[in-house]
Amino acid sequence: MRLPVGKTVRKNKKMIICSSLVILAVDLTFLYINYISLRDTMFSTLLQQAERHQDEFTLNLKMAYNSMLQMSTLITSNGDLSKALLKEQQPENGGEPVKQAATTKQSFHKTYQFGSLESSPYLLSENKQSYSWLRGVSPVWAVDPSTNDKVYVGAVEISTTFKDIVKLYAKLFRVDTAVLLNKEHVRNRMWNETTKAYFEQHPNANHYVEVTTSPRLLAKILSQVFIRNDYKTDTIKVIYDKYSYYSVYYFPLPENEEQNAELPGFMLIWEDVSDQVAHYAKNFFVNMLLAALAFFLIESGLIWLLNRETRLSAAEQCAAIDELTGLFNRRYLDDLLDNELHRTLRSQDAPLSLIICDVDYFKRYNDTYGHKAGDECLQQIADSLRLQARRSSDCVARYGGEEFVIVLPRTDIHAAIDIAETARKAVLSLNIPHASSSIVPVVTVTLGVACTRQLAEYDNLFEAADRNLYIAKNNGRNRIEPLKI
Ligand code: GH3
Ligand code: MG
Ligand code: MG
Repeated sequence: MRLPVGKTVRKNKKMIICSSLVILAVDLTFLYINYISLRDTMFSTLLQQAERHQDEFTLNLKMAYNSMLQMSTLITSNGDLSKALLKEQQPENGGEPVKQAATTKQSFHKTYQFGSLESSPYLLSENKQSYSWLRGVSPVWAVDPSTNDKVYVGAVEISTTFKDIVKLYAKLFRVDTAVLLNKEHVRNRMWNETTKAYFEQHPNANHYVEVTTSPRLLAKILSQVFIRNDYKTDTIKVIYDKYSYYSVYYFPLPENEEQNAELPGFMLIWEDVSDQVAHYAKNFFVNMLLAALAFFLIESGLIWLLNRETRLSAAEQCAAIDELTGLFNRRYLDDLLDNELHRTLRSQDAPLSLIICDVDYFKRYNDTYGHKAGDECLQQIADSLRLQARRSSDCVARYGGEEFVIVLPRTDIHAAIDIAETARKAVLSLNIPHASSSIVPVVTVTLGVACTRQLAEYDNLFEAADRNLYIAKNNGRNRIEPLKI
């Protein structure tokens, strides 16, 4: 049997590694969940913010449209305007020309539309003039003098461009924006040849940048953000540029009220959210520090415990070891026999063998070679006996002076005799000269063996082995004397 110190240290180390891994895993899981939840919170806050911007924009657009419509209605209510729009008509039968309505085709307030005929298109790279219109159109009615009917004679249109609306909006709400029109819309609804030519010059382009408040960032955003075909999104994309974070969101431009009209394009809104990102990053960083601190504290505690255990084991070891030979000492052996083996015997119906080994004529050896040589001789014998303990439960101890004890749990008498005989031969083969020995001129040992299965006989075990040793000594030494009890 070996002292449990090494085993304890190894066990503790294993325990520390396992628990460290578990703690690390828990720590990392905590951090991961924390990261996900912080990120989700941030993204949902940014999304709400973006949706609010969308509502604000739509509201502003509607209000601008209504104002234009009101203004055009106000102007059309002017009687002089409708008179001016009546066309002079030469009657077929000759005579004075009469005022007539230009057209009888009836029309109503038209809803806003995009697409018109400004001179040059605005291009991302060329910084040219805006294109699209937001139009409030009101019909003009007049009484036809020839028929006295109320007829439609024309329309008043008040319009504005995205360029004006978007720039004002961006400034007011401290965001950046861009309006992009799609190819189909430009192709089908725009009259301006220069704009149409844009897609001929850029065959891979799908959208025409009507207006943007920040062309450089727009180019970067368009390269990083996937735009869905329906221009609807319920997510936020955060992009990083020049030490700033921007949350990017897009939504379709308000649709033409005509049935089945294709989507004109979309509006992009992006906003510097560096402060918000920094806030969440700080929170995450603090949690990371806390997790690292917790890990460090728990680890320190564990290592402290391990060291303490090891120190205790080392102290135990000092108290249990014979200084000269490094074998267990008598104290340890007594403890072992009292506690461990007693318990083993009680719980299992297993044999327990004991060997007592005594060096022959050792007094003479000391007298012949000196006490120091005697010590070295005992060390050699101890090393040789130690090799006989093959099982981890076997125990070799120096019982006192030149006497050694081998305890063999779960070993019957036959196996014990074998071990004793091997031990005897092993010492003999050390060939340590012993000129004054009466047996052979080398150091020899005599061994007494005993074995028991009965708990009641356990206390007699030592006595029996000792008695056998005595018999063997009397029978000539350098031998073993087994007796089954
Ligand atoms: P026997 O064959 O009957 O066992 O004779 P013996 O001389 O070996 O037995 P005895 O009990 O008479 O003598 C034991 C001697 O062992 C006495 C002592 O000098 C010696 N001895 C005991 N402990 C030590 C030790 O630690 N170192 C040394 N060098 N000698 C020791
Ligand atoms: Mg003796
Ligand atoms: Mg002796």
